[in-house]
Amino acid sequence: MKLESYLCGTWQAGQKEGRPLVDASTGAIIATADATGIDLAAAVEYARSRGVAALAEMYFEERGALLAAIAEVLTRNKESYAEIARRNSGNNAVDAAIDIDGGIFTLKTYARIGKTLGSTRGFIEPGMDQLSREPVFMSRHVWTTRPGVAVQINAFNFRSWGMWEKTAQSLLAGVPSIVKPATSTALLTERMIRDVVASNVLPDGVLSLLCGSAGDLVNLLGPMDSVAFTGSAATGMLLRKQVAAMELPPRLTIEADSVNATIIGPDVTVGSDLFDLAVKEVIKALSVKVGQLCTNIRRVFVPQDLVDAFCDAVAEKIRALRVGDPADTAAYVGPLINAEQRDVANANVARLLQEARLIAEAPLPDVPEGSGFFAPTLLRCDEPDTARAVHEVEVFGPCATILPYENLDQVARLVGKAGGSLALSLFSSDRAAQKQVASRLAAWHGRILFVDEEVGRNHTGHAIVVPLCTHGGPGRAGGGEELGGLRGLRFHMQRTALQDGSGMFDTLGAELHETTV
Ligand code: NAP
Repeated sequence: MKLESYLCGTWQAGQKEGRPLVDASTGAIIATADATGIDLAAAVEYARSRGVAALAEMYFEERGALLAAIAEVLTRNKESYAEIARRNSGNNAVDAAIDIDGGIFTLKTYARIGKTLGSTRGFIEPGMDQLSREPVFMSRHVWTTRPGVAVQINAFNFRSWGMWEKTAQSLLAGVPSIVKPATSTALLTERMIRDVVASNVLPDGVLSLLCGSAGDLVNLLGPMDSVAFTGSAATGMLLRKQVAAMELPPRLTIEADSVNATIIGPDVTVGSDLFDLAVKEVIKALSVKVGQLCTNIRRVFVPQDLVDAFCDAVAEKIRALRVGDPADTAAYVGPLINAEQRDVANANVARLLQEARLIAEAPLPDVPEGSGFFAPTLLRCDEPDTARAVHEVEVFGPCATILPYENLDQVARLVGKAGGSLALSLFSSDRAAQKQVASRLAAWHGRILFVDEEVGRNHTGHAIVVPLCTHGGPGRAGGGEELGGLRGLRFHMQRTALQDGSGMFDTLGAELHETTV
């Protein structure tokens, strides 16, 4: 089977055989993808002309209704998606649901936001500034939609959620999307878009798909277009350089990898609720989605006097994790998406082992050589101040390193050594510790989860991204921002200072929703 791209309103295949997509549990080739010879300039122009025109005529509430319609199509076809996720990504039922249901939930959330915005098309910030001695010359700031296309380049681990969270924001803002999934796991993305196209719920040119390499796509974009990239820091850097060299570059946002941390607070004692909650969260990081979440915990900072007990508690549970075929309901952890990712993860563990030692691994059953199976691995590094790799190398799989610390001042310094991350968590009921972590580490992170006993019974987890909270992180994490409710629309809009007498603002008010965005 060869995947096709949906561009210029038709399904098209590339001229070459293309790159393979494999069954994660066996390594067998199940499809190929290629975009050679496809006219990308025509595809961009098609989306720009037809898609922009169609969305520009709609109010936010009408665009929100489009998102609701997509969510309905996906919900109807959900059964088949889990099977694709099992084969092409090694997802068991829970892992598949995080991606598939997460995408649908995000679409529905943005559909609801669209509904609340009603018959408006842009935003106006509250209040006005007086620019002259008498109140006759004023300014107000408005946000209007950029008339371009949104190219969305996605990572292999979130074929559904990654696509729909970006598309939800761009379509609601009024910008057509061209989606480019990672080739290795593009099967699910292709099937979902095929279902949406077949159901005829979207205007022509609003949603396009490119399967295969991006080729020259980014170079074809202009100043009103955008690129939202999710993937490794290395590819992110290539794109940054490429865009910087363009005369009239598109807007670029980057969601890259990060070496996220959790901190077990100084008030936590062995066997307390917080101790158990923290152990549970670390085990989730070593099993859920086989650790292939960008926000996953990679470093676990534990008070010196607690570290042996914490290592023992996690080690006992990791040894009991059952790794196996994602179709086997008794297996808790499936394979990484392919053997190539397994080899990269193993090579990165080897780098960490130069500074850390192995504490425990989950037992690995007999598995095919060509599969992606990788044993969940717990490491410990007793020299966190001099270590480098444990703070800098992301093992994109179920591997975490425990690091002892003396005090919160030291841990704040050590957490920052990752150079900026997507997510941090603190397990503590100590308000002073929470305050110190927030004041020292908020600037280094896109999101911080504070877990005390009460939150511990209600939270969504360290790694889970929710649509109402901003996702993204500074520095190494890419410096981008997505989601965060209305805030996510900013990327697709332009803020303009309007200077005039107050009369004009009254006219604008009818089309603009007043908000700080
Ligand atoms: P990757 O190798 O960097 O690829 C990401 C995407 O970029 C793919 O669609 C890839 O296409 C495309 N690409 C590669 N070279 C390109 C180029 N020169 N121009 C334009 N596009 C190009 O990353 P990955 O291996 O798929 O994903 C794993 C990484 O993503 C992990 O490090 C993880 O932490 C990170 N991630 C971050 C987030 C976040 O929100 N911050 C979320 C998920 C994952 P092909 O597949 O066709 O090469």
